[in-house]
Amino acid sequence: MSIYNELGLKKLINGSGKMTSLGGATLDNRVSEYMMKAANDFVDMNELMDKAGQKIAHWIGAEDVCITMGAAAGIAISIAAVIAEDDLDRIENLPFLEGQNNILLQKGHSINFGAPVIQMVRLGGGNPIEVGEVNKISVDNIVSKIDKNTKALLYIKSHHCVQKGMVSLEDMLAISKKYNIPLIVDGAAEEDLKLYLKMGVDLIIYSGGKAISGPTSGFIAGKKELIDYCKLQYQGIARAMKVSKENIMGLVKAVEIYCHESKDKNAILDKERMNLLMNRVNEIEGLKSTIEQDEAGREIYRLKISVDEKYGMDANKVIHHLENGNPSIHTRNHYSNIGLIYIDPRPLKKGDEEIILNRLWEIKKLKGEGI
Ligand SMILES: *Cc1c(COP(=O)(O)O)cnc(C)c1O
Repeated sequence: MSIYNELGLKKLINGSGKMTSLGGATLDNRVSEYMMKAANDFVDMNELMDKAGQKIAHWIGAEDVCITMGAAAGIAISIAAVIAEDDLDRIENLPFLEGQNNILLQKGHSINFGAPVIQMVRLGGGNPIEVGEVNKISVDNIVSKIDKNTKALLYIKSHHCVQKGMVSLEDMLAISKKYNIPLIVDGAAEEDLKLYLKMGVDLIIYSGGKAISGPTSGFIAGKKELIDYCKLQYQGIARAMKVSKENIMGLVKAVEIYCHESKDKNAILDKERMNLLMNRVNEIEGLKSTIEQDEAGREIYRLKISVDEKYGMDANKVIHHLENGNPSIHTRNHYSNIGLIYIDPRPLKKGDEEIILNRLWEIKKLKGEGI
């Protein structure tokens, strides 16, 4: 049984990853307990924001932290902070202020993570200037766009970005220092919470619901003065993105666990689970499976299932049947057009493998019918 059955929704098995569209992460019991207790008590919200931010800042080695509703909110708020600073009149008039308030980013970084990054820049009152071409840009291209209207440099660290031919984060930092313009990094899904701060970026933005496996939340970490400006934006545009007390507390607990507990044990257990599933999937004619490590080299071992004609239908049809059954089974489908279906072990619950395996046998019996 899933709580969502109460609204008439089907149970969902997530073999896809931590996807916003499938509800993000599920929470460690310690995180959900913290949230429940937080939801049932009153607190001074400004003090909570400060104390919770300081706790996270201490664990990750930041001067200070501003908690947000997510990384998207973090982008809008940090842009607003560099533009309005602590001027209440400007804060209250965002996103429409006089002047240009240019925010420079590389064209190959102008991604859509579910919504466009540049829309979040505009929400914060910034005028996004995409520099260079999609697949080629130089330091000089960026420097030539810097003038008195330039309020910040924005660097997106993500697998969604074009990876080749871009200006490196090190070079962006050097430009930022030389011209004394703050560098804001969107590291929404990044796993390392210390690296970018150590490098010396002014602000770094994380999502609480991705690597950290927290509730819907996020934070901006960095220089004390800029973080103070970020928090002031809650009297302006950030009011539309306010974070609840229970989500703040859930994030604190999730970051504490993330910073202090090794993730290796989970990776080993997950790999064993995928090995067992692999052997049993390979008993099905037309399916061949192997274990594959994450493309970015993280400790994630996914099951790769290759579908051939002996199975009776192509990978896209298999995915259709997996999703449309009950429970609805979601897999990782970036390579379905070349016949590959991936299963990510991290979001699977106990017993899910058995359900997936049985469904793969049932779908084979359809012999391509029913679509
Ligand atoms: C997911 C993502 C976001 C948005 O994060 P939320 O916490 O869902 O708001 C922003 N930027 C990048 C690069 C992302 O991957």
